[in-house]
Amino acid sequence: MNVNDSERIVSMLADLGYAPTNAPASADMILLNTCSVRGGAEEKVYRRLANLRIYKRDGKKQIIAVGGCVAQQEGEELLRKLPYLDLVIGTHNLHLLPDMVRGAERGERRSETTFIDNDQRLDLFPSIKGESRLSRFVTVMQGCDNFCSYCIVPFVRGREISRRSADILNEVRQLADEGVREVILLGQNVNSYGLKAESEPSFAELIRRVSEINGIDRIRFTTSHPKDMSDELIACFGTVPKLSGQIHLPAQSGSDAMLKVMGRGYTRKSYLDKVHKLRILRPDIVFTGDIIVGFPGESDDDFDQTISLMEEVRYIDLFSFVYSPRPGTRAAGLHDDLPRAVKMARLDRLMELQRRHTLEICQPYIGSSMSVLVEGEGKLPGQMSGKGDIGRIVNFAGENSLVGTFVDVKITKAYPNSFLGEL
Ligand code: SF4
Repeated sequence: MNVNDSERIVSMLADLGYAPTNAPASADMILLNTCSVRGGAEEKVYRRLANLRIYKRDGKKQIIAVGGCVAQQEGEELLRKLPYLDLVIGTHNLHLLPDMVRGAERGERRSETTFIDNDQRLDLFPSIKGESRLSRFVTVMQGCDNFCSYCIVPFVRGREISRRSADILNEVRQLADEGVREVILLGQNVNSYGLKAESEPSFAELIRRVSEINGIDRIRFTTSHPKDMSDELIACFGTVPKLSGQIHLPAQSGSDAMLKVMGRGYTRKSYLDKVHKLRILRPDIVFTGDIIVGFPGESDDDFDQTISLMEEVRYIDLFSFVYSPRPGTRAAGLHDDLPRAVKMARLDRLMELQRRHTLEICQPYIGSSMSVLVEGEGKLPGQMSGKGDIGRIVNFAGENSLVGTFVDVKITKAYPNSFLGEL
């Protein structure tokens, strides 16, 4: 979500004559787009801002701005605490950015963090222009109604709102006309798309309609809440060939007791049932996931159940986090009883297992052929890079003229985060 917001920000700033740079010291403007999903985000933002301050001390007329979830949470307070900060822009106020930047160029300091909890939020959402990538995010919904006990997202992003399907389909058609070949349907919980809007189709139906658009050859979506993963959506993996063979399905824990305190709304069994149904329809499907380690009250047995869930699912990649309380959430009121050393030891064990799974899942691809959407040059000279159906980067020797095409690449090596292959 933040990557997508950053793309929007870059697009809006380009309209004002700004271009990206890798040299912050000489930049005319620095905007930190922040995320507060993990603990310590506010402190990190304050630390980064303090470091940026040195550029202004040199007498440069530089605009410093903060956007994203930390901006939404802290608002005016950031401006009050940091006299060298010019702009604070909340998660629902991106449409005001051009006006705010023009004001800052005249020396005005401003904070805009108005929360918009109605359809207007999506109507005001600025579009991304001038990006010529082959794979693009398309927002289908925003916000979340789930209020998992540890999560700050519903407080900083607002309640769930689905975008009109006609607008989504128009955007995808336009992207296809511009040469985009893959769309990633985006939302905090795409599986609940349309549930609150009777006139809109289900998420499964939306995928089917997107798949009918000529020019779009691959569809991905994220993020997918397991409790809202309907049978109709699961069935799409058997009937919509354009749907990617990789799905992100965050489990968070393998223990029913932990899932209950987390407020996740599903059990270990119902999660695994969905995994098995998906595997029946798409035997080569790969799963990625999220796990929280050391949630308050997590016993050795709870953790062992998470390990055994990992053994059953066998994720190709896993985002694992040590629990840290987020102020304002229900879980922040729980006694965070586990010593840090125990949490870290559990995380090490989990990551060790994940490294083994990644290797075991990726090795068998060696010698096989993979359809790769070529996105651009690889890191090494003469190398091209793209993504295979399972979402992994594939590098191979090839010509620039291949960009924008699907090519068959024979996999020759599997690395922890990518494949090497040959045309
Ligand atoms: S589903 Fe839960 S974890 Fe995901 S954004 Fe909503 S509240 Fe947060």
